Amino acid sequence: MPTGPFVCPDCGAKGVKRFAEFVSGDQFVRSASYHCDSCGSSEEADGVDSPPDIREDFLRKEGLWGIKLAAGSDELKALSILRKSQGLNPSEMLSRKKRGPLAEGTQAEMSCLKAVLEAAKIPAETFVIQSAS
Ligand SMILES: [Zn+2]
Repeated sequence: MPTGPFVCPDCGAKGVKRFAEFVSGDQFVRSASYHCDSCGSSEEADGVDSPPDIREDFLRKEGLWGIKLAAGSDELKALSILRKSQGLNPSEMLSRKKRGPLAEGTQAEMSCLKAVLEAAKIPAETFVIQSAS
């Protein structure tokens, strides 16, 4: 689990903040939590703005993940959903379709996309593009 430096707001002790990614319904959530060993203070916050390099950390530790559609899926509908959820323009989506994968990112990001697709009755699978180093 990726971690980052942290200073306890209650006692000032230095500690470690842990970041987690998970899917809640079809929402992608990145959370941060800490527990201070010095004073016992702890907090967990969802939907935090994590530092940009945390995403890189997730990719390093969990590998790069992609998503593919199950056979017989409504591809046009799927592409439209994937395009919007990734903020791509039509030509970017088309080139992704050509070279594949349709989407790539952290495991939790792909699980979230899978949930969004399945909510639209489009079966999809996540897979590992590149294993964690
Ligand atoms: Zn503390």
